[in-house]
Amino acid sequence: MIDTPSSINNERTDALNLKDLSIEQVLKNSSDGIVLSNERNTILWVNPAFTRIFGYLPEEVVGKDIDDLITNEDVRDEAIQISETVLSGKGVKFEGLRYRKDGTPIHVQVIVDIVTRKENRLIVYANYRDITDRVRMENALRESESRIRAVFEASPEPIVVYDTDGYPILMNRAFTRLFGWNIEEVKGKHIPFVPDEEKEKTKDKIEELKRYGKPVRMMTKRLTRDGRVLDIFLSAAAIKDENGSIMGSVVTLSDITERNRLEAQFYAAQRMESLGTLAGGIAHDFNNLLMGIQGNVSLLLLDTDTFDPKYERLKNIEEHVKRGADLTRQLLGFARGGMYEPKPLKINDIIKANGTIFERTRKDIRIHMNLEKGLWMVKADRSQMDQVFMNVLINAGHAMPDGGDIFIETNNAVISQVHRFPYTINPGNYVKISITDTGVGMDEQTRQRVFEPFFTTKGLGRGTGLGLASVYGIIKNHGGIINVYSEKGKGSTFTIYLPALDPDQSKLSAEGEKEDKSKTKGVILIVDDEDMVLDVSKKMLEMIGYEVITAKSGREAVERYKQMKGRVNLVILDMIMPGMGGMETFRGLKELKSDVKVLLSSGYSYNEQAEKIMNMGCSGFIQKPFTLQELSSRIDEILASS
Ligand code: ADP
Ligand code: MG
Repeated sequence: MIDTPSSINNERTDALNLKDLSIEQVLKNSSDGIVLSNERNTILWVNPAFTRIFGYLPEEVVGKDIDDLITNEDVRDEAIQISETVLSGKGVKFEGLRYRKDGTPIHVQVIVDIVTRKENRLIVYANYRDITDRVRMENALRESESRIRAVFEASPEPIVVYDTDGYPILMNRAFTRLFGWNIEEVKGKHIPFVPDEEKEKTKDKIEELKRYGKPVRMMTKRLTRDGRVLDIFLSAAAIKDENGSIMGSVVTLSDITERNRLEAQFYAAQRMESLGTLAGGIAHDFNNLLMGIQGNVSLLLLDTDTFDPKYERLKNIEEHVKRGADLTRQLLGFARGGMYEPKPLKINDIIKANGTIFERTRKDIRIHMNLEKGLWMVKADRSQMDQVFMNVLINAGHAMPDGGDIFIETNNAVISQVHRFPYTINPGNYVKISITDTGVGMDEQTRQRVFEPFFTTKGLGRGTGLGLASVYGIIKNHGGIINVYSEKGKGSTFTIYLPALDPDQSKLSAEGEKEDKSKTKGVILIVDDEDMVLDVSKKMLEMIGYEVITAKSGREAVERYKQMKGRVNLVILDMIMPGMGGMETFRGLKELKSDVKVLLSSGYSYNEQAEKIMNMGCSGFIQKPFTLQELSSRIDEILASS
């Protein structure tokens, strides 16, 4: 860096003639090192400060070339160039490195000029100011700044630094990556990323920050450059100068869109769960009522001749009971509770069967299937799976009143990354089924509620709002999950994951129904806390030739069984009773006779609790309400297998 110092050429001599002054004293007392040399760079004189700065005594330097002493290879060329400039008549001022006698480099600010030109004699004056401390400080500052800069840039969270007017002066890469703008585009402007509805709140927070100087935080929204709206957690702190006055702010904007989405899904799942419990409770009581009606009708039918005009009426009642039972079955599918009869199943076959039936009802819709060949098997209840696919297909049909296309795809899927799902799903092998329609789609609000029981957008009489609720419950009870993706006007995709069976388990084919219908009459003990159920079941059983004893509680059942001293062939045991429940009763019975035959009955569908009891060695399960035929064939099965 070489320039011409104005102070050197611009002598002010109006009041005083400097030529009259003895400048020796001035030169000697200067705290800068001063060297006088001739045109050949030979040192003529140095002042005491020069000795202090460079370590050379005057007698060591006088007569030597100045550049030989205080420069080295690195700066020699520069020194020569400077000499030439000076000799050509131009004074110079620059900063650079020079070397002490002991070799340590020092930073100096140098002024060189010709001071005398008399009788062909040239005197060159050089002034060296030691600026090592200043340079060192500047370097340290620069270093620490670049360190802070690196931290700023390395932060995964978007950060912006604003001046007091709210204009951005710095932003890190994470900011540009998330929002799209870089600093050049928005310098001297407000970043156009505050949505209108967030402006007020944002302004208030800025005011608060300015007024109190304390960090502020808030949940808000910001736009990206390409127009997406993000949920943002914003925290801002004031930047203050050493006097404590605010000179700007630093703002971190964390993207919490995904976190919010997962949280919302989690809460939705929780709400569904409590609704399920509620619905299950209602369905359970309702089933017991239906059981009473069904039982009585069955009994009347046995007494009624088919030509009797009442026969048709009774059949009609039975039909209605059946529809009521179907409805509760849907509710129970949704509710906690489980599979009826889980068996190894080939999902592809079930999809094909349901697809064929559906296509027959809607000739204007075409189903395209892309089913994985070696799809793993799942353990599931056949009729519940039918219910799942039919419900989804029927909805897709409703969404395409003028016809369209449905795409069904199945895949083997390995889930390892658990947290990708908001529901509790274990890592492992799954069968993935996705069903896509090209229908009307859903807006976000509808999409969030589709699995809720009784949620429907279809008019009165058209929708029950139970379809997807039961689908949800069934899938969940099978250990799977169901998701929906949809946009208004762009169709919908339902994605189902069902846990796959181990390959060797898959080989176990579904066991065929037992066809043996041979009747074995004997003694049956019915245990149920509801009189109505006891009453009709007893009559039904007697009707088909069994001797029946009843018990109103678990305790009584064990008592009666003991009294009968091994004469009871079968116990029909209600699973849920106050006091001693089904499981305990079963244990009590087993203590009396280890291979006691027990048919478990419940208003709930087959669930965890039932499975537990079944695993303890229970002989069968029947869901209330049951018809006489169902009951009798169940009993036959059990007794025939002994
Ligand atoms: P329902 O069919 O009786 O209305 P569902 O539980 O089967 O009850 O569905 C609930 C709601 O979800 C429907 O009313 C509809 O608004 C929406 N829905 C379900 N499937 C689709 C689909 N494929 N396309 C658009 N909307 C759907
Ligand atoms: Mg439906």
